[in-house]
Amino acid sequence: MINEDSISDTLKQQRSYFATNQTKEIDFRRQQLATLKQLIIDHEPAIIQALQADLHKPELEAVTSEIILALKEIELAIKSLKNWTKPQKAAVPWQLLPASAQIQPEPLGIVLIIGAWNYPFQLVIVPLIGAIAAGNCTILKPSEIATHTSHLIAELIPKYFHSDYISVFTGGIETSQKLLSEKFDHIFFTGSTHVGKIIMTAAAKNLTPVTLELGGKNPCIVDIDIHLEHTARRIIWGKFINAGQTCIAPDYILVNTKTKDQLLINLKKCLKEFYGDHPEKSPDYARIINQTNFDRLVNLLKNSEIIIGGETNLSELYIAPTIINNVSFADEIMQSEIFGPLLPIIEYTDISEAITWINSQSKPLTLYLFSQNKNLQQKILQTTSSGAVCLNETVIHFTVPSLPFGGVGNSGIGSYHGKASFDTFSHYKSVLKNPFWIDIKLRYAPYKGKLSILKQLFKF
Ligand code: NAD
Repeated sequence: MINEDSISDTLKQQRSYFATNQTKEIDFRRQQLATLKQLIIDHEPAIIQALQADLHKPELEAVTSEIILALKEIELAIKSLKNWTKPQKAAVPWQLLPASAQIQPEPLGIVLIIGAWNYPFQLVIVPLIGAIAAGNCTILKPSEIATHTSHLIAELIPKYFHSDYISVFTGGIETSQKLLSEKFDHIFFTGSTHVGKIIMTAAAKNLTPVTLELGGKNPCIVDIDIHLEHTARRIIWGKFINAGQTCIAPDYILVNTKTKDQLLINLKKCLKEFYGDHPEKSPDYARIINQTNFDRLVNLLKNSEIIIGGETNLSELYIAPTIINNVSFADEIMQSEIFGPLLPIIEYTDISEAITWINSQSKPLTLYLFSQNKNLQQKILQTTSSGAVCLNETVIHFTVPSLPFGGVGNSGIGSYHGKASFDTFSHYKSVLKNPFWIDIKLRYAPYKGKLSILKQLFKF
């Protein structure tokens, strides 16, 4: 049971601490980022173990997609802090000279970060890096569904940070809702579109700004004349890491009829190459997070034309990497985000059919296109809307700190990673300064005779 008083008390203490202005000092922010880096380095084995316990996450996936990602973000923030925090000069119309202007970032105050379970460590730690870099105090609420990682975060953070500065509250919906009944200066949420709406509604009561990192169905279009082997490998990798429980995994494939047979041969070959004939025995293949998601996914397999995979084992929460052929837009699997290791194949003869379908759906977090045709690449970029587009690749755009990561429409509001994280947790304050040595009276009453001069000055 979460103690409501402890949430309110922590918030009060964080407000007092923020008011000391200590979190705004650049050296302080740098030290805290270095402390967070140390926390991760000191406890790398425990983090890997927790991710293994929650998701059977292979060590390589844990290290690359959760640990290295966070460490690189910290290094970039430490290196860039001086530059990011520097006020930027802004131009002033000559009519207002000798006034000068600048834009100065300032922290928002106390921020709340709520995470999802699929990358349970980095989904709270990477936003935290932005919150620290921008000079805020933070409350973290990791996902209760990834129990081991959530508890590990709650155990480690107080060992390295004072609760007046960074605090963790574990628990599920109840904890979230108690947190949401308080006033924060920003809420950063990662999770489903459905809960995203609940978060935004709660935030609206206090006019709290939100960043919503949500999900959706990411289309993966496969054209003709592509490098089939590389295409298959990149799709299989992006789809089946973390057993398909990745917000930017290709959700389904839209393949040109002329390419389909060859693509399927290559996809199947590649699956065997990655996970062998018995993926259940592969140390490199994750498990479904819990029975609720397992049951939901097994249900989607019913009456489907499975061409590889399809095996399930409840006691292990195992679902084989599965490819489903001849899927139609009306099938149940196409009605919501799959978020698991099932890959439906839909074919098209004319690319406009594919584009029409994509544009009739909610805007995806990422759209994938495999094509060497520059005109088609351009057409997709110009006629569709999504959080991101990857051409001839999957998922790795997420690891590029100079690319803001976030959705559009139902896939999210706002973005983070690299400088975008700093921006998300900062307010850019406009500052205008005028010296005393001159004070032209043209704008002051009495106005008689001044309008025509002002019109001339402004060429109006
Ligand atoms: P979820 O929305 O069920 O839960 C996310 C968080 O919200 C959890 O911490 C949970 O405790 C809390 N929560 C759940 N119900 C709540 C409620 N009624 N009121 C207040 N808080 C509540 O999402 P999930 O199942 O953890 O994650 C899966 C979803 O997250 C997928 O849709 C996936 O695409 C998306 N996701 C998006 C990103 C991204 O970066 N865009 C990353 C990972 C996951």
